Amino acid sequence: MQAEEIKKHFDNLFPSPKCELDYETPFQLLVAVILSAQCTDKRVCMVTKELFKEYGTPDKMAKAEQGEIERLVHSCGFYHNKAKNIIAMSRDLMNKFNGQVPKTLEELTTLSGVGRKTANVVIGEAFGGDAFAVDTHVLRVSNRLGLVKTDDAGRCEQALCSYFPQKYWSGLHLQMVHFGRYKCRSQNPDCTECPFVKICKK
Ligand code: SF4
Repeated sequence: MQAEEIKKHFDNLFPSPKCELDYETPFQLLVAVILSAQCTDKRVCMVTKELFKEYGTPDKMAKAEQGEIERLVHSCGFYHNKAKNIIAMSRDLMNKFNGQVPKTLEELTTLSGVGRKTANVVIGEAFGGDAFAVDTHVLRVSNRLGLVKTDDAGRCEQALCSYFPQKYWSGLHLQMVHFGRYKCRSQNPDCTECPFVKICKK
């Protein structure tokens, strides 16, 4: 199936997909994405609602007590590392970027706790840039659709970026996340009326 045809099917399935994390600034999105590792977006939204009342900016987060942040993010899991990373990332922002979230992949990935996937989500979602963030859903769906044959997110990103025109990257990321979350689930995917059934490798 050609890239354009795949995109058309995703457009039919999810005409206007939205990021399911709540945020008001690029910094808040960055925090929310860090918290979303191994956790549902719904849970992250419950946590950030409280967290951002006191710690919604990098300068406030940079001065926070780790124990206090751990308490607030506890229900997201991996709370010790997540709290440590969020505080360290905020200090990096204050020290290296004057409190502003940078817009390039190279700069974003210098921040503590920020990997390629997190950086690409921020570029695509907060800054409207072209980026193909590869999370567990995108990786699974790409393999099932036969677009890649790899467990490596970096290789998957490279392959998707060469297969699809750049203007599709950010939108397709969201569409594939939604498809993986709600239809092409890891366990018990809902294959009824799936437009990709003929090419599916599962
Ligand atoms: S047929 Fe099922 S497993 Fe294959 S892509 Fe569609 S939903 Fe996913």
